[in-house]
Amino acid sequence: GSLCDEGADECDNINVVVRCRPLNEKEKQRCDEMCLRFPGEGQAWVNMDNMNGTGGAETQSEDVLAHSGVKRLLDMAIDGFSCTVFCYGQTGSGKTHTLTGPPHLFDNGTSMFSESHGLIFRSFVYLFNQIQNRDDMEFTLTASYLEIYNEKVIDLLNIGTNTKPLQVRWSKKKRGFFVENLFEIECSELDDLLAVLEEGLRNRAVASHNMNEYSSRSHTILTVNITSEQKADDGVYLTKNGKINFVDLAGSEMTKKTNSEGKTLEEANNINKSLMVLGTCIAALSDHRRKDGHIPYRDSKLTKLLADSLAGNGVTLMIACVSPAKSNISETLNTLRYASRAK
Ligand code: ADP
Ligand code: MG
Repeated sequence: GSLCDEGADECDNINVVVRCRPLNEKEKQRCDEMCLRFPGEGQAWVNMDNMNGTGGAETQSEDVLAHSGVKRLLDMAIDGFSCTVFCYGQTGSGKTHTLTGPPHLFDNGTSMFSESHGLIFRSFVYLFNQIQNRDDMEFTLTASYLEIYNEKVIDLLNIGTNTKPLQVRWSKKKRGFFVENLFEIECSELDDLLAVLEEGLRNRAVASHNMNEYSSRSHTILTVNITSEQKADDGVYLTKNGKINFVDLAGSEMTKKTNSEGKTLEEANNINKSLMVLGTCIAALSDHRRKDGHIPYRDSKLTKLLADSLAGNGVTLMIACVSPAKSNISETLNTLRYASRAK
């Protein structure tokens, strides 16, 4: 459903917003037309088609933080819930822009605040502000950053030394999936979190160096784990473990390109398995008749790692990124369909 109002009794596990980027220079030059309009809350018009969604072209990153419901997710993560924000959409629709901002921002390793910073940076700032306001609690934050490419998990904070892909395992104790041997960096201040973001982005650029399509075919997950300890009146400590995942998904056009030429069978089967399984899980979770039935989390690395925020006590926000250009209309429709299926 729609984004939760504050104080609403019932919240959906999965919420959706749509973000439309402006026409780019190339599109303007060839007189590509805007084919998308947002006439009002909860609606998007694609030529004659009428879909649900919110947002609008030209929204600034600050608005995305303010209006998408991410703040609520961050508050919940502080309160011990498992939360996920993921950006879905075709390559070039603005997923990375929404999450991290323009790539040049981090060129000089600077962590100066800029208007163009994305959701991750803004969320980090918000998190630390919230945490500092809670004098009654002790917080421990750790962060990890990984990439899933061709169903192999790579640690973006530890590339090179350990070239073997990491294993996703089930932990009985935590009652959840986790990545074995993944680096987890303790972050006691904002700069530590920013260093994790920068290091991961830098290593991702290195990893993708020899492959054009790499970044459009891989998923990245930046996770902030938040442990809080609160001393109750009776002297007993109450511990909570929450987390927030920021997920930059592979381009959604990849789901159809699984059989294109030049790929090994294994690659073809794996590109992009995670994206397809995510769609299946979300559709099943959103369908109230199937909700209590079997959800195939175990079928992909991505869905294993997001399982706790997709189901149970978790909350997930999907940001469906779309292009306004007429030339992209079929991908835009696919993304909006996927988004409306998730509601
Ligand atoms: P994706 O990660 O989905 O492949 P990108 O985030 O790389 O797409 O965006 C493609 C291009 O469009 C980039 O040059 C990016 O800076 C630009 N862009 C995307 N969204 C916006 C926006 N909301 N405002 C301005 N430029 C944008
Ligand atoms: Mg991208």
